[in-house]
Parts: sequence; C-alpha cells; structure tokens
Amino acid sequence: MEISEWTRIFQNEGKGLLHGDNWTLMFDSNIVPESPEYRWEMYIRNTSARSVFECPECLRGWPSNRVMVVFHMRLMNGAGTVKVRRLRQNCKNCYEAQMADPVIASDNINTLMKNLVKKIRIKCYHENLDQGNYNHPRFDVNSPHEPDHCEGCMTGILFESLLQLDTKTGNYKVLIFKSLRVLCIH
Ligand SMILES: [Zn+2]
Ligand SMILES: [Zn+2]
Repeated sequence: MEISEWTRIFQNEGKGLLHGDNWTLMFDSNIVPESPEYRWEMYIRNTSARSVFECPECLRGWPSNRVMVVFHMRLMNGAGTVKVRRLRQNCKNCYEAQMADPVIASDNINTLMKNLVKKIRIKCYHENLDQGNYNHPRFDVNSPHEPDHCEGCMTGILFESLLQLDTKTGNYKVLIFKSLRVLCIH
C-alpha cells in the first residue's frame, strides 16, 4: 500500500479535527520506535493483516495479527508531520530471506488512522479526550508468531522493556524494564 493511500485515509479521518493545520504523512523505516526525537510524540499500535508479508524469494504470503506500526508525530508552526514505520517480517522457509513490508488492508488502515488522529488531538493539541482506541478487524492466524523472523522482536522496540499487549485496547503496556533482549509478547 502506497503512502498516498495512507494519506488519503488520514486526511479523511482528520477532516475538521486537526485545527485547520496541514499534516503530512511519510514512511520512514529509520525512526527508532521508543525513542522519538526531541519534540516528537510517539504512538505504537498493533494491527492485523490477512496476507501481509510476501517473501521475495518463494512468494509465500502469511497473515499476522502482530503487525506493529510506529508513528512519530510533530506539530510545528501550524504544520504537522507524521513518520510511519511498519515493522517487517521475513520468511521462515527461506534462508536469510529479505525482510518484507506488511501490506495492511484499507479497513485496518482506516482504524489505524482513526486512532492516530485521536492521538494527535490528545498529544499535539492537548485535547481532553479519553485514551481508548478503536479496534481493528482481526484475522484467523493458525501459525505462531516467529520472533526470529520479526523486526519488532529483533530490533529496538522490545529491547529493553517487557511489553504486554492488552488485547482489549490493542495497546502495549510496559511491564518491567530489563537489559536483555525480550521476545515480542503477543
Ligand atoms: Zn520464502
Ligand atoms: Zn515479533
């Protein structure tokens, strides 16, 4: 899914709610999930995809309810920016397969954008809204999550904190900080 599609959905969800400011969305695979830069706000959200990842080698696709999307957002002088990082996975059947981006269905992007707009209103505009999230459609996934093939498990995001997914809200809660590599807790 192209950024233009995400942008279109975001603009639609944010219509009339973003105080007349211009907001721009961009994919950025270099943002560090839990370390936004100075003056940037952060939002991490779990989503699902029916056949998210497709292996460039064997073309196998697989579904996942553990697709993590990281948003860093900043509002400055009436202009807003959102950097989006979709955490990737690679194929467990192929040797050292390339990491693949999740392809997230429009329905799920809708929900993500609804939540993002709400977070922006709370964090960037300091609106007094409830912290609840909108839930996204989930898919049947029969195979277990593969930490060795998941960027979320392998890189910074879960490095030092043990996160627990609250299945009701879809948010991650920090349980304890540890200085060892902790696997995705899904
Ligand atoms: Zn493969
Ligand atoms: Zn993982």
